[in-house]
Amino acid sequence: MERCPACNARYTGNRQCHRCKADLGMLADIEDAADTCRKQAVAAYNASDYSLMLDHARRSCSLRKTPEAVWLMACAAFLTRRFDMAMRLRNSIS
Ligand SMILES: [Zn+2]
Repeated sequence: MERCPACNARYTGNRQCHRCKADLGMLADIEDAADTCRKQAVAAYNASDYSLMLDHARRSCSLRKTPEAVWLMACAAFLTRRFDMAMRLRNSIS
């Protein structure tokens, strides 16, 4: 998160917006969980466990849909021979 979703102030890394005092803690926690899942997907890739990679990549993507998360999930789908899913994900990235 780069900006407060309530007032658009720059996100400073605190759990509360410095301008509007909105609670940003839950959003930060979700971003952290997505990053943890992304790292677990990469670890599963390094262990050649592509099914587990897909599980973690899917979770990461559902928590925070970034182009990187979609690419990771598309790669995992390809490696698990789910080509329709891989192409759909790949085409969803602009
Ligand atoms: Zn704010």
